[in-house]
Amino acid sequence: MPGAKAVPGIPGRLSSTCEQQGQEMKSANALIKSPSIRVRCEHFGALAWQTSPRRIYRLDAAAAAALLLHDQPRPEDQQAPPVAGLGLTGEAWHQAVAGLRDQSLLVPVHAAPAGITAEDVRAARHVLDSDTPRCAVLKPLWVHIQPFTRCNQHCIHCYCHGGPKADPFLLPVGTWLAIIGQLDDYGVFDVYVTGGESLLYDGFFTIAEEILSRGMGFGVSTNATILPERTLAQLRDLRIGTEIGRASCRERV
Ligand code: SF4
Repeated sequence: MPGAKAVPGIPGRLSSTCEQQGQEMKSANALIKSPSIRVRCEHFGALAWQTSPRRIYRLDAAAAAALLLHDQPRPEDQQAPPVAGLGLTGEAWHQAVAGLRDQSLLVPVHAAPAGITAEDVRAARHVLDSDTPRCAVLKPLWVHIQPFTRCNQHCIHCYCHGGPKADPFLLPVGTWLAIIGQLDDYGVFDVYVTGGESLLYDGFFTIAEEILSRGMGFGVSTNATILPERTLAQLRDLRIGTEIGRASCRERV
């Protein structure tokens, strides 16, 4: 597709949900940026990150601009949007929109659409000028944070010298919340909380809620030996799944 493509190694097949959306598209009167994606300006255009199904798309400059201008419902077939201020021809614009629709990065919506005006284009130009790096910047897609190094286990292979007596290196929870905000502003898509045993950490759910409320991806490392019903319920409420490593289940470790 012109404008947007899945990053190599990440499958690009349309899901059945997208196919259903395709049917709905025929009757919807507007297009809007999919609420399940986050966008980060890059020197080549942008990266769009979708949580479910999990994919990352590389967008060229035309697709990045088209996505930005669909932050609100736009007419499906605006014939001549004034996009010359973005350095785009009408044909490039329509190709970009069609490509984004094909990948379900633009989705149909039943809403009163607002036509794209010259003022909208100027505002988008301003955002792109201020947010787009002039050269390649190696930003991480995801970051691991380690707010707690203590643990209830004594694994011989422990990578962080954890255990019940480890130095906890505790920072105030507010400091971690500020760090998460900075990571979000910087364009990091996912934050993973490692340990120690994170579920022993008092601020764990405060940090988890902060990450998730920002629409960032979230992961946690746990040895899963302390999962009382209350903790499981909290994990379920936040829609956090757990994977349990087999190594942690061996008696010797
Ligand atoms: S469960 Fe993980 S953090 Fe705890 S001691 Fe074992 S390896 Fe270290």
